[in-house]
Amino acid sequence: MNGTDHDTIVAPATAPGGALAVVRVSGAEALAVCDRIFRGRGKLADAAAYTLHYGRIVEQEGTPSAEVAGVRVAPEQPESATDSDRPASAPAERTIDDVLVAVFRAPHSYTGEESAEISCHGSQYIISEVLRLLCRAGARMASPGEFTVRAYLNGKMDLSQAEAVADLIASSSRAAHTLATTQLRGGYSADLEALRERLLELVSLLELELDFSEEEVEFADRTQLRETMEQIDARIEAMRRSFTLGNAIKQGVAVAIVGAPNAGKSTLLNRLLNEERALVSDIAGTTRDVIEERTNIDGVEFRFLDTAGIRTTEDRLERMGIERTLSSIARAQIIIRLLDASQAGDTIPAPDFEVRQDQRLLTVMNKLDRCPGRTLPEGVLGLSAKTGEGLDTLRRALRAAVDTQALYHGDTVVSNSRHAEALTEAHDALLRAFDGLREGLPTDLLSEEIRQVIGHIGTITGRGQITPDEVLQNIFSKFCVGK
Ligand code: GDP
Repeated sequence: MNGTDHDTIVAPATAPGGALAVVRVSGAEALAVCDRIFRGRGKLADAAAYTLHYGRIVEQEGTPSAEVAGVRVAPEQPESATDSDRPASAPAERTIDDVLVAVFRAPHSYTGEESAEISCHGSQYIISEVLRLLCRAGARMASPGEFTVRAYLNGKMDLSQAEAVADLIASSSRAAHTLATTQLRGGYSADLEALRERLLELVSLLELELDFSEEEVEFADRTQLRETMEQIDARIEAMRRSFTLGNAIKQGVAVAIVGAPNAGKSTLLNRLLNEERALVSDIAGTTRDVIEERTNIDGVEFRFLDTAGIRTTEDRLERMGIERTLSSIARAQIIIRLLDASQAGDTIPAPDFEVRQDQRLLTVMNKLDRCPGRTLPEGVLGLSAKTGEGLDTLRRALRAAVDTQALYHGDTVVSNSRHAEALTEAHDALLRAFDGLREGLPTDLLSEEIRQVIGHIGTITGRGQITPDEVLQNIFSKFCVGK
């Protein structure tokens, strides 16, 4: 990727297999390039912004295409047998498809550049021909995410918003969608910008003090300085903590189902997955593998860990099986501990694994159909994985274990590990500044520490500092071509 290029780029923007397809073109010469292969009422280069133009995509005859090279007539011998039905005076053009072209004028386009979106028929052949002709007319194929790189470089969005575009495309639940759209709308960026401004204020106060050091005036009151730094750190820490929720929503909330062999783990898993499967199997392109171990409950996606281990009961007896179970428990946000009602006594023993503070344990008594009228100890959910009784209560309990309040109230929720790392670095740098403050570090060094904090915050949005190429490369290579 070369983010500084301003040549014309093209890419299909839609997934293969649809009735229609959109090919995107962007760059200073985008409309002129399109005009070379488009035949409509007028020139696209003269068209107003946000207008739609009907016409044909044509190929100038005499320039062999990959498929028909050899059969095609060379320009110097136009009257060959294959073209005998064509009047000699007619322009030598072959129509590829009837299309609609949407025109966007700089800077009011996704990339901020002159752009066009060509809607053609969804045939793979037509799409590749349109792309080939555009490339021959002066464009080149875009690399993954290159449209969004340009949007970023042209100031249409900051880095965190650009990343939200990728998240939006990948979102598979209401919560993940909300997360991405909130970030895309820039609320998060505004929060970070506010933090950055406060930090800049601190630095300028400190540096002002440096300028006046001869007169020995302390402009930045140290107590106030410390208080402001504490407030900033509290904000950074709150954002960092929100990553637990953000990550769970983006990746799916991790659930481990544990219990003795024959407690009913597989039966329960199948129950939890089945209804979802019926819902999503109609969506083209989703494979069973992908959805197999995930289920959506009230807008949040849950993923079940090590379900292979659950399915192979004998495996549990082996050492490896036990280790796998322990590793699933460690990775889970929610642990469903399944007990067999026909085996369990009235007092439930403590779990034989560790439950961390950030994890939720749901103790569930299965096979209640075998013990009608059994009263459940407090805090224990009842279920029959076989009949489905109690399943809704379990679903509600799973959903309630994920507090999405923050998300739907528009609070900043960090969902990107790159951002979480940057916040951690910012927090560490701030801790060093606190140390410096305590140890009476000279003002210029103190100011440098705070500049470091600003630098780390700045890498999230990419604003206010030069972003190294590797960071850009890293972010945009995860995009699909055409975005
Ligand atoms: P796992 O070893 O924990 O995965 O347990 P399975 O899901 O394979 O279930 C073990 C046996 O218990 C199977 O024969 C299931 O049909 C049966 N089972 C599971 N859940 C229930 C239930 O709610 N009621 C009854 N009566 N049997 C169940």
